[in-house]
Amino acid sequence: MNVRRAKIIATLGPSSNTVDVISELIKAGMNCARVNMSHGTHEGHKKTIQNIREASRLVNREVAILVDLQGPKIRVDKLPEALELKAGDTWYIGHSAVIKNYPEHKNRFIPTIYEELVSDAQVGARILFDDGNLEAQAINKTDDLLEIKIIEGGILKSNKGINLPNVKVSAPSFTSKDEEDLVFALEQDIDYVAISFVRTVDDIKKIQNFIKAKGHDIPVVAKIEKPEALENIDDIIYHANMIMIARGDMGVEVGNHLVPSIQKDIIRRCNLVGRPVITATQMLESMIDHSRPTRAEASDVANAIWDGTDIVMLSAETASGKFPMQAVRMMGQIMIEAEKNPKDRPLLRNQELVGVTQTMQVAAALVAEKISAKWILSVTETGRSCFKMTRFRPSTRVLGVTRSIQAVRAMCLYWGIAPFYLDSKGNDLESVEKEMIEILKQKNLVTKGDKIVVTHGRGSYFNEGSTNLVRVEEIV
Ligand code: ATP
Ligand code: MG
Ligand code: MG
Repeated sequence: MNVRRAKIIATLGPSSNTVDVISELIKAGMNCARVNMSHGTHEGHKKTIQNIREASRLVNREVAILVDLQGPKIRVDKLPEALELKAGDTWYIGHSAVIKNYPEHKNRFIPTIYEELVSDAQVGARILFDDGNLEAQAINKTDDLLEIKIIEGGILKSNKGINLPNVKVSAPSFTSKDEEDLVFALEQDIDYVAISFVRTVDDIKKIQNFIKAKGHDIPVVAKIEKPEALENIDDIIYHANMIMIARGDMGVEVGNHLVPSIQKDIIRRCNLVGRPVITATQMLESMIDHSRPTRAEASDVANAIWDGTDIVMLSAETASGKFPMQAVRMMGQIMIEAEKNPKDRPLLRNQELVGVTQTMQVAAALVAEKISAKWILSVTETGRSCFKMTRFRPSTRVLGVTRSIQAVRAMCLYWGIAPFYLDSKGNDLESVEKEMIEILKQKNLVTKGDKIVVTHGRGSYFNEGSTNLVRVEEIV
């Protein structure tokens, strides 16, 4: 049984979306697969989602599925061929449709799909392309064309991102593409939705309400990558169901030198209120092309664990890299080693406890620690009581025992919780518990003399929201 506490999300893409590779990724330790709507087609994503569930069946281990919505990302439109932007040269940017009015600029035109770019940007604004690899400055503008001077040159390809740091982008956070993608995603069998370029709490509420109105109950991950989000961070942490520190676009927007401090600050704030947090982007970036990471990358993963992150994420390493399995395996190894130094990560023992369930979950964690229990068995219908336990960072391993496959999948992302599916029809306490302990024995998860701590609801084992019992059992 996996001893790793923090969890791994791996992005799927051309390198990894077959049943074979996904099966290997699950075996290597992927807890959640990310499907990014910024790339690919609905048809392709549908197949990938089916492949994930198929792979789970084959290797007999469930994983969560996270669908990531693109948000108001400004991108270069399709180019017939790549453009070479040389430092010092003058170029023009505008919506793809306007070039027909300016035949004289035809050879110096960068088309974008974003219609408001020219009205949003002022003369003097910095304009970054391709994750900040190319840089320009706005020197002039007309109604529909922005004249720019290239400061840092390079090759610009189709579909690359455009960032306007310090410019208030007027595009809505929930674009019409996002709406189509979300409607599509809700028709699939998925567990989490992420939204990009969150600026305010309203961005989150809008999507939460949209999901609810469609009759679904899917947690929303807020990707933090805009300076505006940093200004509203506590409110956003309060309202989102999960936070992602999206270091890629954040680095471009605020400058890479600020990213490490922001990461630590956001993780600390999330830990304090028990909001799960994902640290993402370029964690093992060199593994896109190499079978081993750099020392700096290994340190980055370990330090995210010591900062207190619940989850770490792989992007291009698994989506389009050459060594997807090795990246997941390597990440897991680094995490396990980092977790051997628990004194280096925050122990969340000073939280305020709200409600009976949480108090009982925390009591269970303390009892388990004091008697050196082998496991905590947190019996749950929806995973919610386990969620309350994970906030406390229990030092004993926790089995989130449930008979709901949805709960198993949701719990895949919960720190310290090993989801455990119990296919039980029974309902009375004694028979279900007997059945459960029998299975644990069969799987060699417990042996004679081991102590376990069990928490569950009153009356019925799986009765959620009423955890009111903590018991110690000794295995005979
Ligand atoms: P985001 O800002 O949402 O992270 P991204 O462009 O950085 O968007 P990632 O999901 O981080 O994309 O993936 C990294 C790279 O992997 C992408 O730039 C793309 O080249 C590739 N990729 C990811 N998913 C797919 C896909 N479904 N089809 C094709 N390529 C993909
Ligand atoms: Mg991004
Ligand atoms: Mg990315």
